[in-house]
Amino acid sequence: MTTPKYRRVVLKISGEALAGAGGYGIDPTVIRDIAQQITDVQKLDVQVAVVVGAGNIWRGLSGSQMGMDRATADYMGMLATVMNALALQDALEKLGVATRVQSSIEMSQVAEPYIRRRAIRHLEKGRVVIFAGGTGNPFFSTDTTAALRAAEIEAEVILMAKNGVDGVYTADPQKDPTATKYSEVDFMQVLNEGLGVMDSTAASLCMDNDIPLLVFSLNEEGNIRKAVIGEKIGTMVGSGATGRDESK
Ligand code: UDP
Repeated sequence: MTTPKYRRVVLKISGEALAGAGGYGIDPTVIRDIAQQITDVQKLDVQVAVVVGAGNIWRGLSGSQMGMDRATADYMGMLATVMNALALQDALEKLGVATRVQSSIEMSQVAEPYIRRRAIRHLEKGRVVIFAGGTGNPFFSTDTTAALRAAEIEAEVILMAKNGVDGVYTADPQKDPTATKYSEVDFMQVLNEGLGVMDSTAASLCMDNDIPLLVFSLNEEGNIRKAVIGEKIGTMVGSGATGRDESK
């Protein structure tokens, strides 16, 4: 049997990844595929906590650009993450994986409230825990939520499953054809060079708490499993990384 590299992980799935080719809302085929990938990882006895975003439904920043109050628009974004969380829970439970959604905004009819110790207990019992509602605070992101929850539940790594990008590049590969992918990079470099990995609040939280981050593509079949067993995919972001890029 394959021995996983990690025993407890936080998997961050952006809202965009759930939208599939449509670009908006939830694509049932995509969510089934993600649920299947999580199920495969569960079978390796790995404790999986998931943080979902909401960019497929609503982003606070877009709302505020339309003239809305930023805090209100952000709360709408947090509510949208709950919809994604429920869709993922449904898909996981259809595959027979016991799943609990914990929301940082209380919503007792549809989700448990976020209770750290209870989340850990669920994980120990082999249940997938989906953290919904972001941090519960406006002006933050679900990347920051992933960093915060990973610190709280003492996860060994954040698996940052990206849509359409397979790691961290020296520059935006869509705009700069000479851009190369890092195999490892330091959080300080991410912050100093403004590399598009996660927002700076999230990156500093990971750096300050020594939480490594593996950035990889969700679009390749079986990548979550590869990440968990320690196969070399994507880019590892962590303190003390060499900042090597793959072309060298
Ligand atoms: N959000 C927030 N506080 C949080 C997490 C999320 O206000 O702690 C809001 C924010 O408006 C954000 C939206 O929820 O735009 C969706 O989250 P995010 O943009 O991180 O989703 P993703 O990009 O991962 O799909």
